[in-house]
Amino acid sequence: MAADCLFCRIAGGSIPAAKLYEDDRCIAIADIAPKAPLHLLVLPKEHLVGAPDIDGSREALAGHLLKVAADLAREKGLEPDGYRIVINSGDHGGQTVGHLHVHLLGGRPLGAMG
Ligand code: AMP
Ligand code: ZN
Repeated sequence: MAADCLFCRIAGGSIPAAKLYEDDRCIAIADIAPKAPLHLLVLPKEHLVGAPDIDGSREALAGHLLKVAADLAREKGLEPDGYRIVINSGDHGGQTVGHLHVHLLGGRPLGAMG
């Protein structure tokens, strides 16, 4: 838990957000500025800044975040048409919040990665 971290505060409940999913390791919330009809974020409760923090000790956690995103995609009916799972990292990756999160986007054709 980092006191000045937005997503730590959301995960800890001090900033209110509708949790669409929660377990002992992660939560899922709706993105506040959705880029697709369905745009969710899956974030670990543990404060990790981003993908570079996924070392050997976090392998299972990283897999869990992807599994939760895929489960949510199935639950939300995205499987037949497909969807996108994204982790942005650092400046060139377009990361704006310094707490690891997995984006789940779907509900429209998302086009080629550019
Ligand atoms: P990234 O650019 O990959 O770091 O993604 C950060 C995402 O967090 C963006 O898509 C934002 O719209 C989203 N976001 C920022 N603040 C909030 C918030 N309070 N609740 C939900 N999503 C947020
Ligand atoms: Zn954090």
